[in-house]
Amino acid sequence: MWQIVHQCPQCGAPVLLEETDRIFACPYCRVSLYIAARDYTALYWPASPAVAQEIVFMPYWRFKGMSFSCRGTEVQTKIVDMSRLAVPITGMPFSLGVRPQALKLKFVAPETSGTFFKPCLTLQDAVSGIEEQLNASSAAPRFHQAYIGETASLIYAPVFIHDNRLCDAILNKPIAPVPAEGFTALEPCDQREKLHLTFVPCLCPACGWNLEGEKQSLVLLCRNCNTAWSASKNGLYKIEFALSAEAAPGCIHLPFWKITAQVEGLQLASFADLLRLNNAPEVITPAREQQELAFWIPAFKLTPELFLLAAQRMTFFQEQGPFEENLSAASFHPVTLPSTEAIESITALLAQCAVPRKEMFPKLPQISVQPRTATLVYVPFRPSGSELIHSRMPLSINRNALKWGLSL
Ligand SMILES: [Zn+2]
Ligand SMILES: [Zn+2]
Repeated sequence: MWQIVHQCPQCGAPVLLEETDRIFACPYCRVSLYIAARDYTALYWPASPAVAQEIVFMPYWRFKGMSFSCRGTEVQTKIVDMSRLAVPITGMPFSLGVRPQALKLKFVAPETSGTFFKPCLTLQDAVSGIEEQLNASSAAPRFHQAYIGETASLIYAPVFIHDNRLCDAILNKPIAPVPAEGFTALEPCDQREKLHLTFVPCLCPACGWNLEGEKQSLVLLCRNCNTAWSASKNGLYKIEFALSAEAAPGCIHLPFWKITAQVEGLQLASFADLLRLNNAPEVITPAREQQELAFWIPAFKLTPELFLLAAQRMTFFQEQGPFEENLSAASFHPVTLPSTEAIESITALLAQCAVPRKEMFPKLPQISVQPRTATLVYVPFRPSGSELIHSRMPLSINRNALKWGLSL
């Protein structure tokens, strides 16, 4: 995992962050700030102090997340961890490769000096380009592909020109001859475009209390006025949440997105329709026909197989409450997956549930999911050895898998 060094805006101390951190917590002056990214995080490696030439920064997309690929009659899952040059410059390495741990990244800010080129390739194109190369040999038709993950960033590598050669400004050594066309195809970012993040104080906008959250958390909680907050570039906004009211002492609440949606391209108006899609042995009662279908997607990252399994079990369970909104003494696993990403995983979930798949999979390209509501629901799990166990159905999640998910 790469680290970022950032100067504390309050006391000036240099503070180390992990790539996945959403909260900047200064160990010196104790200030706690939510890092609200505008679209993606933009980071750079500073040039070696030994380089005297003018530095230009070349953009690379970096993506880490879960991949769900519906091929033939299978939902194939994997972790994608890739980087790719985002500009057409011959001679530049295609990916970032392995970098020494000692090298720390910094956030790109309007005051950062040097020329930063805009990416010519979108993140989506970079990810699918890599995937096409990896899957070129696979014969099974692909009906659906989803990338679910939040760690997407633009990373700038410094270069300079010396003796008609393109040189790496970190290692201070030549990489390739300067491309004949130079950098004329590239467009530099203006100062305003270098503003990718704002730092928002972790204070409850409703009551002024300190908000709580693990450093990777996208959602902050106020135990004083029982509210939950997330951040956009415009600051903190309140989000709907609920807690399953039957929590036993010592349990840990795992967050799920309860999503209701209009699914186009498939008959899926009620819970009964999901049971039919699954060819479930359960008798379909009129009550099931009336019951609204909600998708229950983990609001945290896991290995993709476990993520899909948890979503499937929770969706078939359709937790009915009672729910409450009292955060008082409960302990929580951080929310690390936003609702927008959870919604993107619904088609893969439906594919996973379909029986038989042979008929269903060719319909996948026509499916579109239009979300109506997304509520964050904290569900209590009971610790038992290394597992966390749901109290009323067979679903257990290993604590190490949760911990691993925090670094994805
Ligand atoms: Zn500080
Ligand atoms: Zn509050």
